[in-house]
Amino acid sequence: MFESLKSLIHRTAATAHPLSRDTEQHYVAGKSSDGQKIPHSVSMLQVQQALEDEAFRWSCTACGKCCRGPGVVYFTAEDLENIRAALKLSDAKWERLHTRLVQRRKNGLFLHQTAKACALLGKDGKCTVYEVRPLQCRTFPFWTSNFESRESYEWLKDFCPGVKKGDGEEFSLRTIVVETNRTEDGFARLQPPGSKTLYL
Ligand code: SF4
Ligand code: SF4
Repeated sequence: MFESLKSLIHRTAATAHPLSRDTEQHYVAGKSSDGQKIPHSVSMLQVQQALEDEAFRWSCTACGKCCRGPGVVYFTAEDLENIRAALKLSDAKWERLHTRLVQRRKNGLFLHQTAKACALLGKDGKCTVYEVRPLQCRTFPFWTSNFESRESYEWLKDFCPGVKKGDGEEFSLRTIVVETNRTEDGFARLQPPGSKTLYL
């Protein structure tokens, strides 16, 4: 589980941003808005098989479980700059936080790997940088690793109380595909072309 990306994330309403019809069609076909194949996209059939005809319902209960490890959070350099600005820390305090946050780098991303809670989770169980949280945290649960197979979806149902309780907002198959492929498109664009692309 420590290497898994599934255990540190965040509550967020994965509200659909308005998309043009063309862009939506691209995402359904697993392509980015400029027609390139999205690495690790999901197909309608794949998501349908993962759900096995169940309706997907989710509303975040703000339980904070997904901000606790073991797991990994990926930050970009820009995320870190935004976090630094949002927290208004002195140089010395930022240095200490940065050391706790970043254990290693991969594909131009900064990895926060921890067996415990994310270093940015507050004592009240809320994200201290919510407005500037990274893409990974803004897009859960619309990740490929949650919908690519029945097994992955079973994991999600078991892990996230916002799915498990079963009375949240219902998302259509198409919305799941569009949102998940949009996540992976955005995440791939944070990584250098030609690298072995990490996915969520
Ligand atoms: S309900 Fe799910 S998405 Fe919301 S905080 Fe809990 S684990 Fe995270
Ligand atoms: S950055 Fe915020 S939302 Fe993301 S895992 Fe850490 S505490 Fe949770």
